[in-house]
Amino acid sequence: MSTLRRIIQHTLRFPMSSMLSLVLAFACTALILVLPAVTLRFIDVIIPQKRLDLIIPTAALGVLAIGGRQLLFTLRTYFNNALELKITHLIRVELYDKLQRLPVKWFDTKSSGEIMTRVADDVPTMDRVVIEGIDQALAAVLQFLIVLGYMFFHSWQLTLVTLIPLPFIGLITSWWSKRSESKWRESSEASSALHALLHDNLSGIRQIKAYTVEPEALDHFDSASRKVGEKHMNVMRGQSIVWPAVSLIAESGIIIMVAFGAWWAIEGKITPGTVISFLVAWGFLFDPISHINKLSQTFTRGIVAAKRVFAIIDTSDESNLTEGDRPNNFRGEVKFDQVTFAYGEEAPAVSNLTLHAAPGQTIALVGPTGAGKSTILNLLTRFYDPSHGQILLDGKPIESLSKEWLRDHTGYVTQESFLFNTTLRENLQLAKSDASDEEIWQALESANAATFVRELPEGLDTVAGERGVRFSGGEKQRLSIARALLKNPPLLLLDEATSALDNHTERLVQQALETLRSERTCFVIAHRLSTVRNAHRIYVLKDGTIVEHGTHNQLIAQNGLYTELAQATLK
Ligand code: ADP
Repeated sequence: MSTLRRIIQHTLRFPMSSMLSLVLAFACTALILVLPAVTLRFIDVIIPQKRLDLIIPTAALGVLAIGGRQLLFTLRTYFNNALELKITHLIRVELYDKLQRLPVKWFDTKSSGEIMTRVADDVPTMDRVVIEGIDQALAAVLQFLIVLGYMFFHSWQLTLVTLIPLPFIGLITSWWSKRSESKWRESSEASSALHALLHDNLSGIRQIKAYTVEPEALDHFDSASRKVGEKHMNVMRGQSIVWPAVSLIAESGIIIMVAFGAWWAIEGKITPGTVISFLVAWGFLFDPISHINKLSQTFTRGIVAAKRVFAIIDTSDESNLTEGDRPNNFRGEVKFDQVTFAYGEEAPAVSNLTLHAAPGQTIALVGPTGAGKSTILNLLTRFYDPSHGQILLDGKPIESLSKEWLRDHTGYVTQESFLFNTTLRENLQLAKSDASDEEIWQALESANAATFVRELPEGLDTVAGERGVRFSGGEKQRLSIARALLKNPPLLLLDEATSALDNHTERLVQQALETLRSERTCFVIAHRLSTVRNAHRIYVLKDGTIVEHGTHNQLIAQNGLYTELAQATLK
C-alpha cells in the first residue's frame, strides 16, 4: 500500500496534469449513460406512443454523445501519455542521481546489468501503474458506480440480481493478485539476471573469444533465457485459468439477469425497455471487470518494479560527501595509524597498518596479489572507511574532511585506464572542466601522449570508443596520466600496469610517470624495479600486513620477501 502511495505522491508532483486526467476520465465515463438511456426511451416511449418525430433527435443525441466521448478519449490518451512520460523522467533522473551518491561498497554487490534493468525497465513499468492503473482503474470504478446508480434508479431488484456474480469475481481476483505477486517478482528477477549476464558477456567479449569459451557462455545465456520463459509461464499458466473462469461467472450473470427481467416484465413489475436497457448497461457494468485481468497484471508488475526502484532510492547516500572540512591548502602528508579494514565478514584485507609519507615523497607498495595494496588506495580515496585505526592527512583525521574536497585533491591513475565513449577533449576535461586546448596539449606533451594524438585525423575530437577500445594499453595509460596532470593534485594514487609494454612505450610511460610524480606525494602500487628504486620508501605487504619497509638498498640488504619479489616479479 505504501508503495502505491509513493507512486501517487510522485504523480501529484504534477497537480495540473493529474487533475486534467481525472476530469477527463470522469467526463468520458459519465457520457456512457446516454446509450442505455436512449435505448430505454426508444423502447418505452417512442415505440408505444408511435412518436416518429422523436426518432431523429433521440438518435442524434445518442450519436453526439458517442462522438463527444471519443473526442474526450483522444484528449485523455494524449494527456495521460504526456503525464506518464513526465513521471518516468522524474523518477529516472531521481534514481540516477541516487546511484551516483551511493557508496562504492553498494556497487560491489550489484551487477551493472541488474542496475541497468532497474533504470531502463523498472521505471517505465512502475509508471504504467499511474496511467493504466490509476487512470483506468479509477475510470473503471467510476464507470461501475455510475452505471450501478443508473440501474438502481430504474429497478433496484433487477440490479441486485445483476450483481450476483460480483462477490465470486472479487474473491477470485483478490486471491490471484496476492498469489501472482511473488510469481511476477520471480519473473522480473529472472529477466534482470538475463540482462546482467548479457551486459557482463558483452563487456567481456574479448575474454570470451580469447579463451574460446563461446559454447559455455552460450549455455549460460541459454539457461538464463530459458529461466525467464519458465518464470513467465508460471504467471501465464495461472492467468490462463483464472481469467476465463472470471468471464464465465460474469457472463452467466447475463442469463440470470434476463431470466429475472423477463419474469418481472411478464408480471408487469418492470417495462421491457428496462430489461433491454439493463442489457446495454450490463456491457458497461462488466466492461471494467473484463479489464481487471490486464489491470491487475499491470498493477502487480508495477508494484514489484516500484518496490525495486524505491529500494534503491531508500538506500543511504555515501556519508559525508559534501559535509566536512575543506582546508585551504594541502601539503600532502599522509599517515596510516594502525589501520584495519575488512570488505565484509571475511578476514581483514589490511590489518594494523602503520605507514607514513612526507609531502612530496613517493611511497611504493609491493607484494603478492591479494596482499592489500589496492585496498590502501581505496581507503585513501575513502571509497571505504577503516574499521579500526586512523588515517591522517596533514595531521587531520581523514573522516573530518569532505569527501568531495579529498577527491578534488587526489589523482587516481588505475591500471585499467578508463576512457568514456566521448571525445578525447571531454575525457581530459573530466579533470578540469574549463581546461583550454592549450592546457590540454601541454598536459599531453608532458605525458608523452601529444605525438600519437596529433597523428589522429580528428585530434582532440577523436571519440575514444567504449571503454577506450580505440587506444592501446600504453596509449590509454598516457592519456590518463595527462588527465591526472591536468588535475594537478597534491596527492597521487597510482596503480602501475602489470602488462608488459614494448621497451619504447614503456620508456615513454615511465618518463610521463616521473613528470607526474615529481613534487607531489605519491602512493604507487609498483610492479617495476625502476619505480621502486626511485621511491623514497617501499612498503612490502603480505596478507594485509607490512612485513618489511625501507629503501630499495636497505630491503635488498635484508634479503627477505622484497628480494624474492624483486628477483621474481619486479623487472
Ligand atoms: P592487491 O591490490 O594487493 O592485489 P587487494 O587490496 O585488491 O590486493 O585485495 C586484498 C584482499 O581484499 C583480497 O583478499 C581481495 O580478495 C579482497 N578484496 C578486494 N576488493 C574487494 C571487494 N571489493 N570486496 C571484497 N573483497 C575484496
